[in-house]
Amino acid sequence: MKIHEADARGIFAGYGLPVPPSKMITKAGDAKAAAEQLGCPVVVKAQVLVGGRGKAGGVKLASTPEEAVEKAEAILGLDIKGLTVEKVLVAKAVDIDKEFYVGMIFDRGSRRPMMMVSPAGGVDIEEVARTTPEKILKLPVNPEGGLMPFQVRRLASFLSSDKAVAKQIGKALKGLYDAFMGSDASLAEINPLVEDPDGKVWAIDAKINLDDNALFRHPEIAEMRDDASEDQGEVTAREADLSFVKLDGRIGCIVNGAGLAMATMDMIKHFGGEPANFLDIGGSSSPEKVLSAIKIILRDENVKSILINIFGGITRCDDVANGLIVAKEKLGLDIPLVVRLTGTNEVEAKEILASTEMIAALDMEDAVKKAIEAAG
Ligand code: GDP
Ligand code: MN
Repeated sequence: MKIHEADARGIFAGYGLPVPPSKMITKAGDAKAAAEQLGCPVVVKAQVLVGGRGKAGGVKLASTPEEAVEKAEAILGLDIKGLTVEKVLVAKAVDIDKEFYVGMIFDRGSRRPMMMVSPAGGVDIEEVARTTPEKILKLPVNPEGGLMPFQVRRLASFLSSDKAVAKQIGKALKGLYDAFMGSDASLAEINPLVEDPDGKVWAIDAKINLDDNALFRHPEIAEMRDDASEDQGEVTAREADLSFVKLDGRIGCIVNGAGLAMATMDMIKHFGGEPANFLDIGGSSSPEKVLSAIKIILRDENVKSILINIFGGITRCDDVANGLIVAKEKLGLDIPLVVRLTGTNEVEAKEILASTEMIAALDMEDAVKKAIEAAG
């Protein structure tokens, strides 16, 4: 689950990170009072669940309360990567001397949580990794002992040779590690962590992604979920108990089982296609689930064909087939459906689908090739 910068700032502040004070508003007019209370200059920031807001015009400085209102007016309603800005954060601005990147992620290679820092902060860290990888220091952390003092020193001195500044950075790194572990995050990032002209360190951006499977341990964080700011397909999928991740390709996928769904995506790529999504309809698949799955996939205008790949175990192929018939009738589906159903009740399923225009596939390879061809 993703949460807004404002909420992530709150969590970070709770772990002692140096977060400048801020106020969340939804009406531009309220920026005046917020700016007066915080003291100018302030920075007005779009609260949407995507990065790169700065580049998209969603982060603006204001030196007077009146200007804060103007900036809030300009940002509210803005479209950033398909999401409409409905809330903005007014935060006390910091004078920036240096910008650093600091982040905690899970590293699959070392199978550990890993801290990653760079003196080239403020910009896209993937870009730094591509062009100047030597500007990134990564240290895996043994979760049993936690982030060690020698690691903190090494990371902090990689960012600053000034002892007083490095000390503050070190403290921030410990806070970041504790916030990451303490909230069961899959990612916790401050980009940028900055040094002001007086040598004071501030966390002026905040990003935390939570592990959905651990949210039951953090009811106060679970409440921070903001459905309105998420990809609506993913919201609907969660409500329908489907596991769905949107991707950028042209071939919609409806599969049962996460493993088969991954294998299906791999195979699509292997034969030169691009999947439009990952979608696992799960073990017990009623016709309603199939209908919801198709609805979710059809929201995506890029989708030019849909591949249904079902291995019937507990899932009955005839249930899936009935779901497809209902979907075709109800939704007036006009894009090609390629269907591969095998296993429990496959004979019944084939009879049900025999009189339709759906493209039947013999096996997985055949299905994938037909779906790619149908997508054009
Ligand atoms: P992002 O683009 O979504 O990552 O949003 P950020 O919060 O990182 O803001 C983008 C950029 O705006 C930062 O890298 C800074 O250069 C600038 N910025 C944000 N807050 C402040 C601030 O308090 N003072 C100054 N001078 N610049 C800021
Ligand atoms: Mn940022």
